[in-house]
Amino acid sequence: MLVFRTVSELNTHLEKAKLFDYTIGFIPTMGALHEGHMSLIKSSKINKDYTICSIFVNPIQFNNPLDLERYPKTEEADLALLEAAKVDVVFLPSVQEVYPSNDLSIPNFHFGQLTQVMEGVFRPGHFDGVIKVMYRLLSIVKPKRLYMGLKDFQQQAIIGRMLEQMEYPIHLIPCETTRDIDGLALSSRNSLLTPAQRKVAPILYKILKEVKSRAKQVPLGELKHLVNFKLTASGFKVDYFEVVNTQTLIPVQSFEDAPSIVACVAAYLGDIRLIDNILLK
Ligand code: AMP
Repeated sequence: MLVFRTVSELNTHLEKAKLFDYTIGFIPTMGALHEGHMSLIKSSKINKDYTICSIFVNPIQFNNPLDLERYPKTEEADLALLEAAKVDVVFLPSVQEVYPSNDLSIPNFHFGQLTQVMEGVFRPGHFDGVIKVMYRLLSIVKPKRLYMGLKDFQQQAIIGRMLEQMEYPIHLIPCETTRDIDGLALSSRNSLLTPAQRKVAPILYKILKEVKSRAKQVPLGELKHLVNFKLTASGFKVDYFEVVNTQTLIPVQSFEDAPSIVACVAAYLGDIRLIDNILLK
C-alpha cells in the first residue's frame, strides 16, 4: 500500500499507473474508519479496481466549529485497516494541499432542490463544502468509479447529480448502510456518544423500520407526527424527519406520489447529531 500526502506525489504515481490501464475506484473518507467505510472498499476490491482511499477532514463542510474540533482522528488505526483491506493507495493530504488558494473555483453545477432541503436547511454551507472538496479530490484522483454510502443519502444524490455534469465520466456506486448489531448505522461520530446515549441511539433505526412497515396504511402526515413524538419522548432533539422522492428529494404527500421514496431523519442525542434513512419504496 502506498501512502501519499501531496498532490504532486500522487500525480506522479498516477501518471505511471496509467500505463497499466487500471480502473481507478475511489473512496473518499474523513477517517476514523469503521466497517461502513470498509464495505465501500470491499465493493471496490470486488470490482477489481485500483483502489484509492482518501482521508481528509474537510474543514469547510463543518458548519459547527465544535463538531470539527472534536471529529475523531485515528490515523494509525485507519492505515492498518486499509493495509489489511489491500487498498492500493491512500491519499492523506493537508488542508493546504487540498486548498492551496482561498478561492478554489469550481464549475457552475446545477442541483435544483437537492441542496435546498433537509441537511441543506439545517447545516447551512455544508453542501457547498462537500461539493468543493469532492470536485477537487475527483480532479486529482480522476477515478472511473466513485463509492459512496447510502447512509448519507442526500450527499450521494447531490454528488451523483454533479457527476452527470462533469466533463469526464465517473460512475457512482451507492453502497448500502452498514449497521451495528442493534441496528445503529455505523458512523465515526458514534464514538463520541456516552454509554447512555449509545443505548438510546438504535431507537432511530427502530423507528424508521416501524415507518416502513406502516407507510402503506397510515397517512404520511400522521406518521411524521408519530415519529417526532416518539423520538422526542426517547430523548432525541429532532432536526427533521422527511419522506421524500429519491430522485428530487422533494417531500411527498402520499405513498403514491413518487415511484421511489425514502424516509430521512436527523436528530441529536445531547450534542451528537445522528442521521439515518430507510427506503420505503
Ligand atoms: P465519512 O468518513 O463520514 O465522510 O464517510 C465516507 C464515506 O463512507 C461516505 O460515502 C459515507 O456515506 C460512507 N459511510 C459512512 N458510514 C457508512 C455506513 N455506516 N455504511 C456505509 N457507508 C458509510
